[in-house]
Amino acid sequence: MKLALTFDDGPSAWTPTVLDLLRDHEARATFFVIGARVRERPDDVRRIAAEGHELGSHTLTHPRLTEIPDDEVRSEILGGAEALAEVLGEASPLFRAPGFHAAERELAIVAELGLEAVFADVDPEDWRAEKDSHTIFRHVLDGVRDGAIVDLHDGYPPPPTTARDDCTPTVEALDHLLLCLRAEGYELVTVSALAAV
Ligand SMILES: [Zn+2]
Repeated sequence: MKLALTFDDGPSAWTPTVLDLLRDHEARATFFVIGARVRERPDDVRRIAAEGHELGSHTLTHPRLTEIPDDEVRSEILGGAEALAEVLGEASPLFRAPGFHAAERELAIVAELGLEAVFADVDPEDWRAEKDSHTIFRHVLDGVRDGAIVDLHDGYPPPPTTARDDCTPTVEALDHLLLCLRAEGYELVTVSALAAV
């Protein structure tokens, strides 16, 4: 059984702790990073790649794509991908829309730019301020199945989204999840590795 953990909205101050946990549990994951934050924390991005994880872009500044005109959708998607490519030295084909807000028009632009939109099967909405570590843990553990993509956050969404300003609940949930998922027989792989099965 395989599972893909994904982390959005980093890199942030919590990313190194998430990476430590993944390393301790021999897990691989996929990080959908915000371009503006990639430029602020390039060392975290390099460490993510160096430790065998996958990266994809999550726009340049995290707008709601369904509410902005075509040219801005294009520049947000391209800007995020370019920031990531500058640090990694190579482009990633993976893209995730902020808040999964992508309809026909946005998906057509993603495809036109040669990128692949990645969604998720299990979404505990861990970025919400009211979610504690146990709620996040239970939601993921109850929702997983072979081949699922799980959405978590190693950063919190920038304004105007009303979100928490602390990723500690996710980090605490992750520590327990990695133990339990491995015990249940899941191998934790990147999105590309999951698609290649
Ligand atoms: Zn996001």
